[in-house]
Amino acid sequence: MLPRELERVIQLTATHHRWRREESINLIASENVMSPLAEAVYGTDLMSRYAEGRPYKRYYQGTKYVDELEILTMDLMNRLTSSKYCDVRPISGTIANAAVFRVLAEPGEQAAIAPVQAGAHVSHTKFGTLGALGIRQVELPYDRERMNVDIEGARKVIEKVKPKFVVLGGSLYLFPHPAKEIAEAAHSVGARLVYDAAHVYGLIVGGVWSNPLEEGADFLTASTHKTFPGPQGGVLFTNDESLYKPVSHTIFPWFLSNHHLHRLPSTAVTALEMLEFGRQYAFQVTKNAKALASALVSMGFKVVGENQGYTMSHQVAVDVTSQGGGARCAKTLEEANIIVNKNLLPEDPPEKVSDPSGLRLGVQEMTRYGMREGDMEELASLFKELLIDRKDPAMVKSKVLELRKSFLSVKYTFDVKLPDTLTPLLNMT
Ligand SMILES: *Cc1c(COP(=O)(O)O)cnc(C)c1O
Repeated sequence: MLPRELERVIQLTATHHRWRREESINLIASENVMSPLAEAVYGTDLMSRYAEGRPYKRYYQGTKYVDELEILTMDLMNRLTSSKYCDVRPISGTIANAAVFRVLAEPGEQAAIAPVQAGAHVSHTKFGTLGALGIRQVELPYDRERMNVDIEGARKVIEKVKPKFVVLGGSLYLFPHPAKEIAEAAHSVGARLVYDAAHVYGLIVGGVWSNPLEEGADFLTASTHKTFPGPQGGVLFTNDESLYKPVSHTIFPWFLSNHHLHRLPSTAVTALEMLEFGRQYAFQVTKNAKALASALVSMGFKVVGENQGYTMSHQVAVDVTSQGGGARCAKTLEEANIIVNKNLLPEDPPEKVSDPSGLRLGVQEMTRYGMREGDMEELASLFKELLIDRKDPAMVKSKVLELRKSFLSVKYTFDVKLPDTLTPLLNMT
């Protein structure tokens, strides 16, 4: 007799897979899908192995192919990023940040971070990784008009506090932080600039968002699964060998032992896809985000960032106060199989975290499935039916199911027939 739970595990996995892959419209800004090719090379023996240390300097036997694979992956990621040094071992963006922060400052020293209103991630703050490392946080001032770091104010704070490093980059991230100006201010007091591109790394390598390493950032950290459509993981880059060495010599054993080796071939495949199709993809992502923002406005929604053209990234932030608030709207949308997250808007007080004023929408995943500007208008009208006209979500859900049928295969990838032995497990729905 097979355990009853076994059937349930398989059923839950398959049902989730079908729901999120075939029946819903995903607009979570921090997610994406890998290509079938990247997924095929994800589910192999590599998922069961260890390779502690750096390539060709391992503590384990059995890694001769892993060594070459890891070096090849790093080379491709460096080529894509126009950088000299890279480490693909961080198993998440947060771990990449931790490795860099810990090398740049000792516990008790100070770091200056972008204001929370300008999108700073929890890992940059005293409540997250920075705090766990015992590094003290100084917040840079906020420019409400530009929804960004206040450059003049930041310069003054940096000159006064002389932090060990400054962190830019955000999670609700519509407009680029001023990396060039802040790098100059940081360097003038001997501080380093860390640019956390978790959300926008795919846009940077696709050429629609400026490359912070070229603007003076000392480190670029990122997740490999947001606008960069690879496996869940992290990565860090620098052009400075004297900064690279201490990070690459301490990330193991300080922040990980196993670095989840099955990420390597999938990251490499995704890097090759981005080298080939990244411009097309990233350009379409930003066109779609702008199109979604304008369509929502024309249907009566209040979209954040009006005085600056709403967005320059993959994200759109909507103020849904008049539609019942972020929590209620996100739930209603889910009832119709449109998946979004509620989000604090820049002017929200932190106490509103469980019922914030906003929704954060990201168009990167649906762009991968082939959506274009006209489809953004269709999406916006579904939002109107649900949140303004208050139509029955069950009725709107049938329209979502119908719409999704035209967007089931991932574009921006190589046209290859996959060998059967590499077919991913999850295709057994
Ligand atoms: C998502 C995010 C991270 C964390 O990434 P994980 O890969 O989930 O650890 C770090 N920084 C920013 C700005 C993010 O948005």
